Amino acid sequence: MTDLGKSREHPTVTPSTFEVGASPPVPERTEVNAFYWDAVDRHRLELLRCRGCGHFVHYPRPICPRCLDTDLAPEPVSGRGSLYSYCEILQASHPYFFDKLPYLIGVIDLEEEPGVRLPTGLVECTRDDLRCGLAMEVVFRSVTPSLTLPYFRPAGRRS
Ligand SMILES: [Zn+2]
Repeated sequence: MTDLGKSREHPTVTPSTFEVGASPPVPERTEVNAFYWDAVDRHRLELLRCRGCGHFVHYPRPICPRCLDTDLAPEPVSGRGSLYSYCEILQASHPYFFDKLPYLIGVIDLEEEPGVRLPTGLVECTRDDLRCGLAMEVVFRSVTPSLTLPYFRPAGRRS
């Protein structure tokens, strides 16, 4: 009984606490973003582009934030860009990530339109390899048999 009281006062979260830890958080597919995830499933990167002003729009949304046009269509992009910002994650925000720590995330400035930025996981590198402005390229990873995600790595590496 005293042990139970103790654990209530000082809850301890460990990987075994959650069975959900075996599964990653899964992106929600919606009518607006389904094209994006369908492309990722085929190892392609496509972003919405406004037909009114030519602006790439990411994350997917139904209205261009620049000119408010609603005529947006998916367009393939190169998957190249530069590292705008990055961070090493030391604390898990979901049980799935407990045994992945530490890991790297970053924001990629799209080659086709710098200023349009993609938040992403960074792979095939260490924190010491990274600096803002570094050339990066997309790489696709099967996280589970039914979930593929785009990550970025320093350009010119072979997996
Ligand atoms: Zn526009």
